[in-house]
Amino acid sequence: MEFKFTPEQDVFREEVRSFLKQELPEGWGSRPGSLSEENHEFGQEFLKRLAPKKWIAPAWPQEYGGLGLGLWEQVVFNEEMSYQRAPLLNFAATGYLGPTIMMYGTDEQKAEHLPGITSNHVQWCQGYSEPESGSDLASLQTKAVQDGDDFVINGQKIWTSQAHYADWMFLLARTDPDAPKHKGISYFLIDMKSPGISVRPLINMAGEDGFNEVFFENVRVPRSGLLGELNRGWYIATTTLDFERSSSSGYPTSLRTLEELTKFTKETKSNGKHLIQEPLVRRQIADLWVDLNILRFLSYRVVSLQSQKLVPNYEASIVKVFNSELGQKLAMAGLHMLGLYGQLEPESKYARLFGQFGRSYVTSVGLTIAAGTSEIQRSIIATRGLGLPRG
Ligand SMILES: Cc1cc2nc3c(=O)[nH]c(=O)nc-3n(C[C@H](O)[C@H](O)[C@H](O)COP(=O)(O)OP(=O)(O)OC[C@H]3O[C@@H](n4cnc5c(N)ncnc54)[C@H](O)[C@@H]3O)c2cc1C
Repeated sequence: MEFKFTPEQDVFREEVRSFLKQELPEGWGSRPGSLSEENHEFGQEFLKRLAPKKWIAPAWPQEYGGLGLGLWEQVVFNEEMSYQRAPLLNFAATGYLGPTIMMYGTDEQKAEHLPGITSNHVQWCQGYSEPESGSDLASLQTKAVQDGDDFVINGQKIWTSQAHYADWMFLLARTDPDAPKHKGISYFLIDMKSPGISVRPLINMAGEDGFNEVFFENVRVPRSGLLGELNRGWYIATTTLDFERSSSSGYPTSLRTLEELTKFTKETKSNGKHLIQEPLVRRQIADLWVDLNILRFLSYRVVSLQSQKLVPNYEASIVKVFNSELGQKLAMAGLHMLGLYGQLEPESKYARLFGQFGRSYVTSVGLTIAAGTSEIQRSIIATRGLGLPRG
């Protein structure tokens, strides 16, 4: 079978490509992304230019501010955006909270929250993990207690990406402490300006301010902030995770990096020979291209399921584990091939390929942890995909 996009999809790809050429600064796509304040500000400006074109979430229905495009058009869009390393801010909202609200929200919740995402007025963050609950997320201890028409929330979240910029959070809290752990959790939508919320930054290995601790002290949330049924939040939360792990933007990101690395090995000489002539380098580059193509078709499989209105589950875990581990392999291969130059900071005049491999060597570690570690994904693949007994 030969996989091809339709002529209309190719025309759309060209349109996105020329928009990005016009809107991104010269050379933007060659530089590694970063979580700096400056990049965040540029990202916000960039999203302001996407919003009037309804390109923040082009596959969402028109009534919520999308264009109602098909999922394959969304893939085309994501591929071009990621290949050019365009800022993808608020992905928690466009990628996984929004689709969850469409499935479980009331008409009022859809009308209240979805247009704010597509108009780029409301940024969201994900309040799942806690200091003692990561992989075993259902053991979470943040509590929500009913008090009249409100719920009162007390507890702590951790590793909350972008909480320092977020206007709202989607949060899991325990609403029935006596029920079995998966059956006593509810899913809330919370305004981050509510009294009693405080945010404290956590600095990552690359020295960036990317995630946070978030504390809740007697935070009142109206009943309209409850998404889905009381105590049924676990099942909604896992749907959100399935959407999160289904992202199709890993392939184009790695494609760009591998193209740059391959070009580098063809152009750079060591001991009088081009790097690509070294047997080990040739083999590594070839293996990476094989992996990249596997990732591409694993990602397309997930989109194909979604286009049949199915929510991919273990299939999404396969993509997540393969994509994040390929990111690490690429970073490690690049760092070795660039030698000591590879370790230099992007600002150094001696840095090669804008210092991207030194940076990705450090930041790619987190990718195999975020959204559920590789061990947890393998466990899902084993039990739900292969039907093996739980370990
Ligand atoms: C870059 C980044 C961004 C993140 N952003 C967010 C966010 O926005 N919101 C949010 O809520 N969370 C976020 N997280 C947190 C992330 O979801 C958790 O770190 C992750 O679920 C793992 O939990 P933990 O850190 O508590 O590790 P633990 O659960 O303590 O795991 C420690 C180790 O034990 C292994 N392990 C644990 N249980 C098992 C098991 N049953 N079988 C086999 N191995 C096991 C794990 O794989 C891991 O290697 C982010 C994390 C990172 C790195």
